[in-house]
Amino acid sequence: METSGQKIKTKALELGFSFCGFARAGSLEQERDFFVSYLREKRNAGLHYLERDPEKRTDPRLVFEGTQTVIGLLLNYFPKEILPEKDNFIISKYAYGKDYHEVLKERTNALILFMKEEYGSARSKAFVDRGPVLEKAWARQCGLGWTGKNTLLINPKKGSFHFIAIILTDLLFEPDTAETGHCGNCTLCVDTCPTGALEHPYVLNPSKCLSYLTIEEKAGIPEELMDKFHDRIYGCDICQDVCPYNRFAVPHAVNDFLPSPVLKSYRKQDWLQLTEKQFDSLFKDSAIHRIGYEKLIKNIRIAAGSL
Ligand code: SF4
Ligand code: SF4
Repeated sequence: METSGQKIKTKALELGFSFCGFARAGSLEQERDFFVSYLREKRNAGLHYLERDPEKRTDPRLVFEGTQTVIGLLLNYFPKEILPEKDNFIISKYAYGKDYHEVLKERTNALILFMKEEYGSARSKAFVDRGPVLEKAWARQCGLGWTGKNTLLINPKKGSFHFIAIILTDLLFEPDTAETGHCGNCTLCVDTCPTGALEHPYVLNPSKCLSYLTIEEKAGIPEELMDKFHDRIYGCDICQDVCPYNRFAVPHAVNDFLPSPVLKSYRKQDWLQLTEKQFDSLFKDSAIHRIGYEKLIKNIRIAAGSL
């Protein structure tokens, strides 16, 4: 029997999530067609994992048997203080603190436990950036935002600096209304991207994107992009920083996302002298640790113009 699920939404906010919405599980026909042509045109660059299970990505019932409702959750990570950018290299705001996968996992697990306590036999499974689920498409279906021309989820009230978590559940909740796009005539993100990675509105070429190049790229950075790092050594927020909807961003209240005093004190000279031991200590709980010392050092050298 369908219920409003208001208790779940209230609990999600109590757990610190910024937004929570529901969508009826089913096949996303439009997204499936888009995704199939995206793969056919090989626009996924080196992200080969996206080629697995394309059908599953657009139909969560094939991912978790019995799914009736998709629960979309957003967690704000917009920092109160931007790390100094003068005489410094720049890391993406989402990586200032603890690895978001861990932070979101704790919270989604707590919400799933609550659902079990409330509804007894509920079966649910959480996904944070891993597993065959199109998070942005489902967040849109849940009424949490739309995919902007920068290809990121934009929440109309608080902008794009949010992590997305998805829970698939066999409980039946009243769905929210899917969000529609509000980019209008704006093209700021497309115009400001330093590498031309946003080749067209809504179309990102990962192999030109600084976020992909500084984190995922393993085959080497194309020569022609080496002078376009603009001090970025892990991720890139440029197409978010310029988005007018991010004027509505408010600082997060998640202690785990705060940068350490050491990270706050770092300037270019410290980065250029970073040892593997310091890397391990500084980033042991961070998503940055996953790219490894060698990759970060390579990024630093490219940004410094010394590679
Ligand atoms: S993250 Fe940076 S490089 Fe990638 S599309 Fe946005 S502005 Fe361009
Ligand atoms: S910068 Fe403008 S076009 Fe780009 S996502 Fe934001 S509103 Fe949309």
